[in-house]
Amino acid sequence: MYLYNSLSHKKELFTPNSPEEVKMYTCGPTVYHYAHIGNLRTYIMEDVLEKSLRYLGYNVKRVMNITDVGHLASDADTGEDKMLKGAKRENKSVMEIAKFYTDAFFSDCDKLNIKRPDVVQPATGCIDEYIKIVSGLLDKGFAYVAGGNVYFDTSKLDKYYVFNDHDQEDLAVGVREGVEEDPNKRNKNDFVLWFTKSKFEDQALKWDSPWGVGYPGWHIECSGISMKYLGEHLDIHAGGIDNAFPHHTNEIAQSESYLGHKWCNYWFHVHHLNTDTGKMSKSKGEFLTVSLLESKGYDPMAYRLFCLQSHYRRNLVFSWENLDNAALAYQKLIAKIATLKPEGEVDASALEKLKERFVGALNGDLNTSLAVTAVYDVLKAKCSDATKLAALKDFDRVLSLNLLSAAEKVRAQEAEEAAASADPEIDALVAARTAAKKEKNFAEADRIRDELKARGIEIIDTPQGAKWRRV
Ligand code: AMP
Ligand code: ZN
Repeated sequence: MYLYNSLSHKKELFTPNSPEEVKMYTCGPTVYHYAHIGNLRTYIMEDVLEKSLRYLGYNVKRVMNITDVGHLASDADTGEDKMLKGAKRENKSVMEIAKFYTDAFFSDCDKLNIKRPDVVQPATGCIDEYIKIVSGLLDKGFAYVAGGNVYFDTSKLDKYYVFNDHDQEDLAVGVREGVEEDPNKRNKNDFVLWFTKSKFEDQALKWDSPWGVGYPGWHIECSGISMKYLGEHLDIHAGGIDNAFPHHTNEIAQSESYLGHKWCNYWFHVHHLNTDTGKMSKSKGEFLTVSLLESKGYDPMAYRLFCLQSHYRRNLVFSWENLDNAALAYQKLIAKIATLKPEGEVDASALEKLKERFVGALNGDLNTSLAVTAVYDVLKAKCSDATKLAALKDFDRVLSLNLLSAAEKVRAQEAEEAAASADPEIDALVAARTAAKKEKNFAEADRIRDELKARGIEIIDTPQGAKWRRV
């Protein structure tokens, strides 16, 4: 599989450290609010990456954190802790907020068929890991204590900006305007590993540490959690593109300085879901959630298809019109699949051929729009319905669009409707009209048609014979 690696800025053949298991880490949500559908674009594409690796035969161990402490309003370590902000907004405790929005996040994931990572670890559960790393960094001279906080000293690194091909706009995200400078920092990019002197007296969660009672910085949690569960060598680390700087840049700085060797080989970044005014965010414009889409009548699968139709390394523009197009495409696709008959033989060589295009799409830097095209190719292929259904079932291990189960529901609904409207007397009249037509007794055929019309029944002549429906 070729994947674009943000570290080398090119597509590389993916080769895990060990053929036994791919070690994959993904940054999880900050659980102070609902996830918006932009956040969920990132999780959908990470889900497709994990499932593609499994589909291609790898064992994957995937770990994700839940940020329930330490993520301040600005990614540059200033402002209020987002969790505290959420708690104040809703007049609840930080732990209540964390529980509520963690559950809400996984409920959204379930609706979008996003598989739960093998390990999901709230940041508050690994304090000892962070203290161990921060102590190690202090011992090695990569960190310093100032004003009570512990900072990472970026001047000790040969290269700090490891992802240096990002847009200025992306780089600017972490260091927003109006953010006041922290006078304790020796260098502009130094970041907090451990806070003790939060300017917010009411910081809810605090732990004892060698540097005083406090709480971890946001970046250290991902290094600590990933090392705890995946060891010293990561294969893939994933997240949204805004996380590349400063979050992932800082993760690399502290992890490699602590370990003394390279930490993660491949960095996978999903580009943003934008609105017509720029990046979708929680603080700007309409707050679009999965529940909101559902309340407007959209199937979450239409949103998943919308995401899959574009490449993860392109910004995706959300508009209701674009979503409508995806919803219609999904409905038509499922209706088409519903016409396939689950009978006949599977032609193994035809199935392999169909799979080839699909696998080729995944192998080419996770080209999901081509993978979706491979689904349409199946429908157009000249092979048995059984072969087509087998291919669709196989592809849906990665796409997770409910291709077969949704089609089955359509079929069941159609059967139910047919049963509900069955009427032997009308069937007999329709048959009598057909017989009259055959005998060229058109007057009688028209009379029957008019009689049925008066009873609210319309006859539809199809190549398979006359059908009827209530109008
Ligand atoms: P957060 O809960 O704010 O930490 O963000 C969760 C994930 O969503 C991170 O991986 C972000 O990079 C990602 N993200 C944030 N905004 C967007 C967006 N508009 N489009 C795609 N991903 C996003
Ligand atoms: Zn992270």
